[in-house]
Amino acid sequence: SNNANVVLQVADVHKNFGGLKALSDVNLKVEEGRTHAIIGPNGAGKSTLLNVVIGRLPPSSGAVIFGNTVLTGLAPYKINQLGISRVFQTPEIFADLPILHNVMAPAFARRDGGFRVNMFGRTDRESEIREEAESLLEDVGLYAQRHGHAGSLSRGDKRRLELAMCLIQHPRLLLLDEPTAGMSRHDTNTTIDLLKKIKLRGMTKVIIEHDMHVVFSLADEISVLAQGRIIAHGQPDEIRDDPRVQEAYLGG
Ligand code: ADP
Ligand code: MG
Repeated sequence: SNNANVVLQVADVHKNFGGLKALSDVNLKVEEGRTHAIIGPNGAGKSTLLNVVIGRLPPSSGAVIFGNTVLTGLAPYKINQLGISRVFQTPEIFADLPILHNVMAPAFARRDGGFRVNMFGRTDRESEIREEAESLLEDVGLYAQRHGHAGSLSRGDKRRLELAMCLIQHPRLLLLDEPTAGMSRHDTNTTIDLLKKIKLRGMTKVIIEHDMHVVFSLADEISVLAQGRIIAHGQPDEIRDDPRVQEAYLGG
């Protein structure tokens, strides 16, 4: 495929924890505007791979490249500023603050500079940011509760809040680690619809997911990880019937 469209490249990545090979020779390319799913049984190395991409874990060898930038060795906040946001693994909401302010806050750290405080102690772009936050809260179905405290939200609603907090950063790449884990079927379907809407905006996504219904509803491409190795890669139809995939799941 054409490398010019590759947003994220994982190249020959190995990650060992002592004697455990959590990732072995992982290669992955994510193209602009695509939703790339990574599936695999528990313990396959999915979260480890995401942690290597966002700089929380150094790879034992290999590299992660974002656009033209080698990420390997950069601090997580730096990688975030370059345009990679990750949702749902670390709930970093401000429980005592109103939901609306939770969504506005991450705009400060935006790579386009966010908004600055002017001589009157007001932020130049505060009303603009507020409008965007309100619109995102409408998208995630939390607009009516926007003045309530974030801490009072249900688990599913907190995840949707986190998604809005990521989207206001205008990431170039969105990483989702099991976005529907522990959700009811109804909340899962609402979240799928929401992620489809985001897909229409052309945002590039990597989604880690256990729930096959979610994967086949959203993914353009699927990579299957088992025991730290990519054992299959292809379009959803190719993956669905792949005996190696079925074996990995039944065996896992
Ligand atoms: P998945 O997300 O696919 O369920 P993980 O990436 O969490 O899998 O884990 C892959 C393997 O690496 C597992 O065997 C897990 O126990 C191990 N592992 C993950 N993180 C660490 C760590 N920080 N230290 C030691 N072993 C770890
Ligand atoms: Mg995991």
